[in-house]
Amino acid sequence: MKYVLTADLGGTSCKLGIFDQELELIEKWRIPTGINSETELLKEIATSFQKQLEKMESNVDECIGIGIGVPGPVNFKDGVVNGAVNLGWKGKVDVKGILSNLMNLEVIVDNDANLAALGEQYKGAGKNYSNVAVLTIGTGVGGGIISNRELMHGFKGASGEVGHLKVDHTEQFQCNCGHRGCLETVASATGIVNLCYDFQKDFPESILSELIDAGTLSSRDVITAAGQKDPLALKVLNKVGYFIALGLSYIASVVNPSHFVIGGGVSDAGHILLDSVISQFPTVTFPPAAEGINIVLAELGNDAGIYGAARLVEQYIK
Ligand SMILES: [Zn+2]
Repeated sequence: MKYVLTADLGGTSCKLGIFDQELELIEKWRIPTGINSETELLKEIATSFQKQLEKMESNVDECIGIGIGVPGPVNFKDGVVNGAVNLGWKGKVDVKGILSNLMNLEVIVDNDANLAALGEQYKGAGKNYSNVAVLTIGTGVGGGIISNRELMHGFKGASGEVGHLKVDHTEQFQCNCGHRGCLETVASATGIVNLCYDFQKDFPESILSELIDAGTLSSRDVITAAGQKDPLALKVLNKVGYFIALGLSYIASVVNPSHFVIGGGVSDAGHILLDSVISQFPTVTFPPAAEGINIVLAELGNDAGIYGAARLVEQYIK
């Protein structure tokens, strides 16, 4: 039996997984990422893998390689991460070099959103179709594009940064990237709250009014209120659906995927948001690019990243 080791680094914990050579998940667990330096953290990951392999009465000689996702910009060729805000990493970190020295295995590194996209394409809602685009909607909007079964990285690794497609031409809100009107400003958890404050004056009877006045409104409140058919919440999710549909229309005309997969915390709004995207997508998209497209919810949840990491090892480490 040959194994594939995978890791998905996040701000508070690191998800680890071991797959068999058929890419079936055998074991998954988490370790805290805490306040360790990058080298200490990568050492802990290596130690944790080794302990788990011992438990399985195995060792690194029976492993094909390691795939790891990091929440920051990654140079895919050399496996160097250029800062990771959520991990407190400043400057360049040679994740590939450090981890392959520690484990004596080949390592492949990619951005966490890219890996989550690849996981969904391979084993989740993309069902192994060749051309799939994934949007992950949480605090921000991330994503990844799989074209002809390969993750697109592009010239500087910015391929798939769909959160910064410009969809709000009124440019109401400032984005973290420095521009205004990005998808992330109107379709993330923050975006939902932004739009709610914007529309509230037309809906004084909304059950959200108190939270709005108190300044404590969260996207989850809006999603819950939409479930209770609150008109303000429904109006907001309909507008969010429009902005997402507009973003998808740009992607459709450029890469023409067969499946759009929508995941992340905000996709918990489930069918209210999904239906709003599905109904508005054909009204804004070049008809041949809209034809036959499936817009579906993600299926792998928090496991998407380790599935994508395993798939990357299968594709790139022989
Ligand atoms: Zn932006």
